[in-house]
Formats: sequence, structure tokens, C-alpha cells
Amino acid sequence: MKVFKFGGASVKDAGSVRNVARVLGCFPGEEILIIVSAMGKTTNTLEQLVQLVFEGKAGSQEIIDQLRKQHFDIIKELFPADEHRVYNDVEILFTQLELTVQATQVTDYNKLYDQLVSFGELVSTKIISSFLNSTNYQNKWLDARRLVRTDQNYRFARVDWAFTERLVKETITPGNRYVTQGFIGSDDDFNPTTLGREGSDYSASVFGYILEAEEVVIWKDVPGVLNGDPKIFDNVELLHQISYREAIELAYFGASVIHPKTIQPLQKKSIPLRVQSFLNPSQPGTLITEGSDLTPLLPCFIKKDKQVLLTVATRDLAFIVEDHLSKIYKLFHQFGVRVNLTQNTAVSSSFCINHDPIITPKLMEALSEDFSTSYNDKVTLYSVRHYTDAAKQRVRKSGEVLLEQISRNTYQVATV
Ligand code: ASP
Ligand code: MG
Repeated sequence: MKVFKFGGASVKDAGSVRNVARVLGCFPGEEILIIVSAMGKTTNTLEQLVQLVFEGKAGSQEIIDQLRKQHFDIIKELFPADEHRVYNDVEILFTQLELTVQATQVTDYNKLYDQLVSFGELVSTKIISSFLNSTNYQNKWLDARRLVRTDQNYRFARVDWAFTERLVKETITPGNRYVTQGFIGSDDDFNPTTLGREGSDYSASVFGYILEAEEVVIWKDVPGVLNGDPKIFDNVELLHQISYREAIELAYFGASVIHPKTIQPLQKKSIPLRVQSFLNPSQPGTLITEGSDLTPLLPCFIKKDKQVLLTVATRDLAFIVEDHLSKIYKLFHQFGVRVNLTQNTAVSSSFCINHDPIITPKLMEALSEDFSTSYNDKVTLYSVRHYTDAAKQRVRKSGEVLLEQISRNTYQVATV
């Protein structure tokens, strides 16, 4: 069996849904499990809904009406005969969403988030599964909340692998094709859960691992994995092959093309991961597998905006030692701060961290109890894997250099 994942951009309107059918038409007779995200920017809109419900519900009906209209516009284009049962199926979901909103007594923001945001994927898969059936691509719709069992860490739920494996193996049988949701699951009490934003890639990897898929394919609007985000860097080129390990490194440094958690399960069972263009399904895209780091071996550019470069020093010019560092890292951990680069001097340590308007001031306050602190905000961090001199220059000249670091395979520079 193959596992295919179609993200929000690949199902954003009726034309895109038809294109999914066209892509699948290139794989006649293959058993495929199709994992789908919410359509277009639906998840962002549902996040707004959660916010409104949390703040007392004013305006929430307008958001639901807007989503209902967007989805029914797509349905009308795909199913001109309005007696098709998809109209009813999707209306039931929107009614459930309304009832959930009305009934909610918000106590737990993250739990509410998962209850509402999971509708995006439920609706999109209903539409896509029905459309594929109407084009004679026979498939069964599956509810991922009944397959992916997680803990109750709402919004960032962790998969219960053993339970999920049992559920998936009981349900998914050879000789069939299926459509299900990425990103969602449920806890032991059947409360919906989500796996973290952009988590559908990870869902594909979970199913791929359990089913020992022949391959997992992520369909994107780019030709594959490029050596830089084309929206940021010019003259980027396609990477034909990447090792699992290199893919994990690239994701770690912030390459956004694959969700960082996706690779590891696949690597454990040597299941190839392919990133391919849904606009050009006959092109092979990028294959992530065992083997050499990168083919071709090109410098890979990653840019992270919204960084803060924080310098923490001892007050009395004492050497900064393990004791201080462990205090500092404890605070990072406590505030959930991700450190992207660090460098030490005798009496100070500098850290490039993701800026968060709420967390950063709190962290600074906590640090200044024991240390003297200073920081630059609006910092950009560039990372270059497999750098060359020209590649280093290219990112270095984009601003004033605050901090630079080189290791065997990686060059990083923080600029303002
Ligand atoms: N729809 C979810 C999101 O936008 C999950 C995903 O697309 O992977 O974050
Ligand atoms: Mg998405």
C-alpha cells in the first residue's frame, strides 16, 4: 500500500480537488491510503473561531457561516446535481460545529481548540472522498478520530502507537482505497485531538509506518524539496535525493517543506518518503531515503525570521559555568523556548531564540533575577547546510552580522 498526503493548498478549491483525482488517475489499480488536510486556509479560520468562542462567542456564527459558504461553493461546483448525499453529510458536520460552539463552557482552551479545529479535516475529506467516488475512484472514508489514539495533550497530542496500530490494522484491509484526515485523532474518551499545526505530514508517516507502506508521498505545489524556499531565495534547485538524516537536519534548522516529526518513523522501517508536485505528477520529485546526504550536493539555505538574540552575563564578571547554564536552560524549558544557536564567552552566553510577544518579556524578567541581560530583536537567523564560501557570503551580506558560527556541515549567521 502507498500513503499519499494532500495538504491544504492541494485541495483549496474545486479545480484543485479535480486535480487530486487527476493525480490519483496516474496510479491505476494501486492500493492507496489518502490523507488530506483542511481546505486552503480553513485551519486558520477555525483558529479565529476558537479565539472568538474563548472570548465569549460574539461573531462566531459569522465565521461558521463564512466557512459553510466557502465549502458549499466548492461542493456546488463539484456536484451540480444537488441531491448528492455529500450536501447532507457536510451540512451535518456544520450543524455539529454550531452545536459544539453553542454548548461549550470553555474551561480548557486547548481542548476547545481540538474540538473545533478538527472539523476542517472532517469536512474536506467528506468532500474529497465523495468526489473521488463520483469519478469512479472507489474509496472508503475513514474517521481518523477512530484510528489515531493519542494522549490528552490537546493541540500537541502524542500518538499512542500500540493502540493506534491495533485500530489501524483492524480497519484497513488489503484490496481497498481509503480517504482519511491528517492532523487529527482522539483521546481515550473520544475527545478530538490534534497533532500540532502542519501535522498532516506526520499523520501520513504514522499510517505509513503502521501499514509498512511501500512509500509515502507528500504532494506539494513545488517540484520537490529545493535547496531553499523559492519564496525567499532565488535560483533554487531541486534536490533529487536526501538521506533521512539530512532531512531531519534540514527540518531541524527550519526548512518548512516537511514537518520535522515526519521522518523518524519512516526511517525506522526504511520506508521511502517522496515529495512530489501535484501540478506535475509524472515528475519524480525528491526521494528521501537511506543513502548519501544530498544529490546533487548543493548548499541548502534556511531563513528564520522573528528571532531574538539574547545575551546573558554574570553580574560580577564571574565565569559562566555549568551551574549558570543549567539555570538558564531550565528557564528556557519552563517557558517552552526553542534555542536555535548558542555561543559562549568567559562571562556571558548568547542565545538566538524564537521571539514570542508574550513569552519573551516573561523570560527576560525571570533571567534578570540572577543575570544581567541584553538583547536584539528583529533578528534573522540564516542556516546553510553544506556551505561554500559563496553561499556564506550570500546570506552574510543580507544585514549587519551579530553572531556567526561554523561547524563541519553547517554555517549559521544572525543578522539585523
Ligand atoms: N490543517 C492543519 C494545518 O493547517 C494540518 C496540516 O495542514 O497539516 O495546520
Ligand atoms: Mg495545512
